[in-house]
Amino acid sequence: MTNIKFFGDPVPLEMHKVRIVQKLTLQPIEKRAEAISEAGNNTFLLKNRDVFLDMLTDSGVNAMSDRQLAAMMIADDSYAGSETHYRLEQKLRELFDMQYFLPTHQGRACEHILSKVLVKPESIVPMNYHFTTTKSHITLNGGTVEEIIIDEGLKVTSSNPFKGNMDIGKLDALIKQHGPAKISFVRMEAGTNLIGGQPFALDNLEKVQMLCREHSIPLVLDASLLADNLYFIKTREEKYKNLTIEEITRRIAACSDIIYFSARKLGCVRGGGMLIRDKALFLKMRGLIPLFEGFLTYGGMSVREMEAMTIGLEETMDEDMISQGPLFIAYMTEELQKAGVPVITPPGGLGCHIDAKQFLDHVPQEQYPAGALAVAIYLAGSIRGMERGTLSEQRNPDGSEQLSNMELVRLALPRRVFTLSQVKYAVDRISWLHQNRRLIEGLEFEEEPEILRFFFGRLKPVSDWKNKLTAKFRKDFDDSL
Ligand SMILES: *Cc1c(COP(=O)(O)O)cnc(C)c1O
Repeated sequence: MTNIKFFGDPVPLEMHKVRIVQKLTLQPIEKRAEAISEAGNNTFLLKNRDVFLDMLTDSGVNAMSDRQLAAMMIADDSYAGSETHYRLEQKLRELFDMQYFLPTHQGRACEHILSKVLVKPESIVPMNYHFTTTKSHITLNGGTVEEIIIDEGLKVTSSNPFKGNMDIGKLDALIKQHGPAKISFVRMEAGTNLIGGQPFALDNLEKVQMLCREHSIPLVLDASLLADNLYFIKTREEKYKNLTIEEITRRIAACSDIIYFSARKLGCVRGGGMLIRDKALFLKMRGLIPLFEGFLTYGGMSVREMEAMTIGLEETMDEDMISQGPLFIAYMTEELQKAGVPVITPPGGLGCHIDAKQFLDHVPQEQYPAGALAVAIYLAGSIRGMERGTLSEQRNPDGSEQLSNMELVRLALPRRVFTLSQVKYAVDRISWLHQNRRLIEGLEFEEEPEILRFFFGRLKPVSDWKNKLTAKFRKDFDDSL
């Protein structure tokens, strides 16, 4: 809720009540120390039973609404021609005003098909910022990603409300340098995942679209984190504050030739899909759906998920619904700032992002400060975050490290999942950790996979710093968990 006034200090106020709950366990730090060692000091490899607050991601773990659960019961189970499919397609057409829809099992499947059809060897894909799976699919097909985010986008602290904007001058220069024929498409990512959930402005998207149209280059929107971006346009872009969320959505869609999304985020379900404006392009992509995903009326999703997605997309147009994440994230960010913890500002969507470069300014980037901080946060609070730094990059072809622009630990706040007291607990433990940050040191690989190494790579600490940190925790918290 955005426009409610408080007599005292404002708090983010949920406009929903919780009707189904899941019991959590909080293990003592000694057990956590064992669990993270067994997990190769990679939070992706932790078992959920060893985690108290799972802030790894917002993917597929957002809370569903009563209406979504009810809709699952009327799903039409058939391999081909399911009513469920037509209801979803109709809803997407209504919201985005685009004719053609292809269902996929999740967001990266759209990237797979998109890259296979549009990316040729040597071609270039300019984007505001990359996402891990996006970049892998484009490079797998021989293309190169060019990130042309505005300079401010990579500054940790800033007052720029739209750090996800594309640098229009750089886009123009890039098109002139390579010629439009070499550019497969321009990609705009809503709520830029890897740099702190930072939105783009509608004005910026419209400028990108004008350049694309002038050179007949398709504009592709990655709408996975659209919900947050919609909220930020509504609340931060002065000239659009009187537009409804539906109207903003339609303006964004009108700029795009293709819109794809992960429904694990957008719509709070699982699955994904792609909307396409051009019929010829749709027909080319359509052929790949039965090959990689499933028949055209389910695309690898269960019909139940598709019904829930139809409702979830509709609910995304409700400002009360889409404000919950950003308001909680802003609260957590501001509380951490008060405790002196370096965080990404302004607060974005998706989660609260801690700047590990500053938090652990004594740990060299080659020793993965963000990875080490994620381990330390798990030790300190049984809170599972995600490394978004050098570990999440791929090595260069010559084997050298591709040092990341930012070293972040993302603490995702899946929508409608955590309470404010849980957020306060996380703030407390991270503030303690910040006071004791000199005890934390780096990590090194024990087993390093070649592709997407952050998912299942195993690491070890460069010294016995984890034991020292555990001992200090025991001293400060006595026999508390
Ligand atoms: C999650 C995500 C994807 C990939 O979607 P999956 O459903 O996880 O495959 C692509 N782009 C962005 C911006 C994302 O956040």
